[in-house]
Amino acid sequence: MIERILYVAFDQLNLKHGVLAKANKEKDLIVFVESQRMTESALWHKERLFFLISSARHFAKALQDSGFQVSYIKSKTTVDGLKSLKLDLPIFCAEPSSFKQTALLSKHGVKFTPNDFFLTPRPLFFDWATKQKSFVMENFYRLQRQRLGILVTDNKPEGGQWNFDKDNRLGPPKNYEFPEPLSFQRDEIDLEVAKELSMQPSSTWATTRADALKALTHFVSKNLAGFGPYEDASTNQSWTLHHSLLSPYLNNGLLHASEVVDAAVAAYRNGGIPIQSAEAFVRQVIGWREYINGMYWFLGEEYRELNGLNANRKLLPVFVDSKKSKMNCVSSVVADVEQRAWTHHIPRLMILSNLALITGTNPQEFLDWMRQNFIDAAEWVMVPNVIGMGVHADSGRLMTKPYAAGGAYINRMTQYCKSCVYDPKLRVGDNACPFTTLYWDFLDRNAEVFRSNHRMAQQINGIKRLSDLPELRVRAKEVLSGLDKGTI
Ligand code: SF4
Repeated sequence: MIERILYVAFDQLNLKHGVLAKANKEKDLIVFVESQRMTESALWHKERLFFLISSARHFAKALQDSGFQVSYIKSKTTVDGLKSLKLDLPIFCAEPSSFKQTALLSKHGVKFTPNDFFLTPRPLFFDWATKQKSFVMENFYRLQRQRLGILVTDNKPEGGQWNFDKDNRLGPPKNYEFPEPLSFQRDEIDLEVAKELSMQPSSTWATTRADALKALTHFVSKNLAGFGPYEDASTNQSWTLHHSLLSPYLNNGLLHASEVVDAAVAAYRNGGIPIQSAEAFVRQVIGWREYINGMYWFLGEEYRELNGLNANRKLLPVFVDSKKSKMNCVSSVVADVEQRAWTHHIPRLMILSNLALITGTNPQEFLDWMRQNFIDAAEWVMVPNVIGMGVHADSGRLMTKPYAAGGAYINRMTQYCKSCVYDPKLRVGDNACPFTTLYWDFLDRNAEVFRSNHRMAQQINGIKRLSDLPELRVRAKEVLSGLDKGTI
């Protein structure tokens, strides 16, 4: 006799966590809703839709095969799907991962259990954040290491330092072979989803827990050792470098943060993994991921709409079509995203977001594009990452200074400039690198805004030393107009 409905969102696909942790085969009906709103509300990347839907269908089937009572509903919206059950029973689900979904489900009377897909309970993060003058991730991360007992001995960091980034941050290596990523076979469920979406999925992403676990083993055995040194590099020799490619599974529930961290720490303990790499990876999971999720809830629902730099340029054509730019770095990175809905954190921040920032692209248009096009782009990830870190639309609430950079940085950390029509060293003239021109123009345009920011003083003062500022302003206008037309 069924007594409860357990609603499982597509980002909570885990039997040991969320509402399923206490599921009962006799008394619970487990419900999934594949909503039209999810598939048709925006121009979602097909690879992303494929991954989310196929993972949910595989997970629902696995539950059913193991004896649970499961209903997989297709409906206009999630709430319509729940209503269509016509059962007068209490509905439970784990706390949703966005403000919007929380409000919709709450209005429908759904009761929430704590969201334990993260290692930091929301009240604990609030407690930390309310005591901070500025929200420095590194401070949060060190407390996480101590609280969770990860890579610490007697409350002190293993290896003698909390953070080894100074040893990392290497540019792309020469004559070096990065391991090939895994590729996944498509089964009947995958093919059915692909057919419904009228697409041909890549073999990049796993859609079952078994395959997600293979991806975890592959990362730990083949990539973890080299993760640290090259985590900030980009190269056209390898789209993965030593990155884990695990964020999609962490964000849809197929993997849990605790098992990913445990696997990395166990490999380090077994030897062969330098502390620089183990620490750098652990920081991404127990530091950045938890911090960004905590800040999403702490900063509130209105944070999404901020536009502190009054940036109102429409989304550049190159974001929609990688061929609409001659800038090799931008065009290559967008082409990567078109192909597999993923590129690692440095192209996201220092190429895509940097371009949106220094061109003055509207933050919400850019945020929506990022949300729609990345395989791991949950609302809680993208809102703080784009509004705060990426385009500084929050006037420095999250990060004290904007992540703006010119071509010199991109030339140092990537190999794109070698085969680009533009020259990263030039800021004026037809061959000038648009990043270099627009970096200075961005500082010039926003000099008043940043004048009182002591962390920006050196950069703002640098504008005064530019002998070619009038020429640069003219070139910047040409560049912006060319980017708007898709000709630069
Ligand atoms: Fe990108 Fe400029 Fe380098 Fe070209 S020269 S690849 S536009 S940074």
